[in-house]
Amino acid sequence: MRIYDSSKKEVVAFNPIVEGKVRIYVCGPTVYDDAHLGHARSAIAFDLLRRTLEALGYEVTFMKNFTDIDDKIIKKIFETGKSLQELTSYYIKRYLAEMDALGVKRPDIEPKATESLDAITAMIDKLIKNGCAYTTPEGDVYFDTSKDSEYCSLSHKCDEESLSRIEPNPAKKNPADFALWKACKAQDVCFDSPFGAGRPGWHIECSAMIEKHLAYRDKEYQIDIHGGGMDLFFPHHENEAAQTRCADHQKLAKYWMHNGFVTISGEKMSKSLGNSFFLKDALAVYDGEVLRFYLLATHYRANLNFNEEDLQAAKKRLDKLYRLKKRLYGVTPGNVEEDFKRALLEALSDDLNISRALAVVDGFVARANEHLDANPKDKNFKKAAMANIVYLSEVLGIGGQDAYAYFQHGIDEATKKRIEELIARRSEAKKAKDFATADAIREELRSLGIAIMDTPQGTVWEKV
Ligand SMILES: [Zn+2]
Repeated sequence: MRIYDSSKKEVVAFNPIVEGKVRIYVCGPTVYDDAHLGHARSAIAFDLLRRTLEALGYEVTFMKNFTDIDDKIIKKIFETGKSLQELTSYYIKRYLAEMDALGVKRPDIEPKATESLDAITAMIDKLIKNGCAYTTPEGDVYFDTSKDSEYCSLSHKCDEESLSRIEPNPAKKNPADFALWKACKAQDVCFDSPFGAGRPGWHIECSAMIEKHLAYRDKEYQIDIHGGGMDLFFPHHENEAAQTRCADHQKLAKYWMHNGFVTISGEKMSKSLGNSFFLKDALAVYDGEVLRFYLLATHYRANLNFNEEDLQAAKKRLDKLYRLKKRLYGVTPGNVEEDFKRALLEALSDDLNISRALAVVDGFVARANEHLDANPKDKNFKKAAMANIVYLSEVLGIGGQDAYAYFQHGIDEATKKRIEELIARRSEAKKAKDFATADAIREELRSLGIAIMDTPQGTVWEKV
């Protein structure tokens, strides 16, 4: 496996800290609002990384946090009158349901900041005691970046322009210093700590949760891969790395991976720009798997300019896989073709080269269709082709749905019920050899835009 390490700025060979095992941490969402396409893309990119490593035989432990205490959350609490628990549990539930719809595997560990305060305060305490952090007259605790000789060695982004984006504060000793603990103010949500009531800063959460749940204690590095969106590289990841270095005298992660932005018409997608595209809106129209396939089909490091024409084109490409799957309806999968498996894994092992991987998929679909045209009864081929599709669903997270259900997406429950009733009536008519009625029902379904097919497994239908 070779991956692009953002800190080294090159593609490097992946060698895990412990043979056969991989520990991955990805920064999760701040749960004060619905997820947007940027969240979806990051989740899908690292889901692909995880699935690829698993397919290569690694035992992967995957962790992603929920930031459930932060300025934006507090603002929303006072706007809505909801409690922290009410607000954050609502958005966590929605986030998880949307990730399920996108076929993103659930992390093995999903800690929340508010449930990790013991680890967070213990880490801040260590940093104060070893002189890497200081308390301001207002009671805030800051990390002293001048005490970390390696500060900026990760992102190499501590130029004036990057620093100018950090909120200035006269109480800070250095411009890059950042809050580890924010003292309790009016209209705040506060927790007790040895350094006064307050709440944790954002950066310390990730370091502390990794240390608590995922870290190797006796190695040079705490985890193998740290991931997140490119916008988190500086200052967030730089600060995470600094905290861990100073508190635990270990490096945080051996490899750093970052996914590109999702833009709309060339502008960076960001909530602050007000051009956010909520995931829920896209999922209301498109099958989660279609959306996944679209977001997956651009290499994770490239920026993706979201537009619906490309999404439609992605759907057509995925339709082809499902049309092949329909031809194999009812076939029990046999053994995956070794050449297919090798080609797919070789492509993904090359820094998740999705274009190459999807070319392997397209090639397989075309070859299988040709073979089935010439040899429609080749049972062994059918079993292998079905096994290839099952394998694809494990590695890429696509092709796993029932082939007919896939083509039924977008039909409401009431219409589905009506269709099923008509099909049942037609079956009865056929049984009674009343072919005129059976044909009339088929025509009625066709007028509803529904095509039916009689298969050995019964009558199936799809949207035409
Ligand atoms: Zn983080």
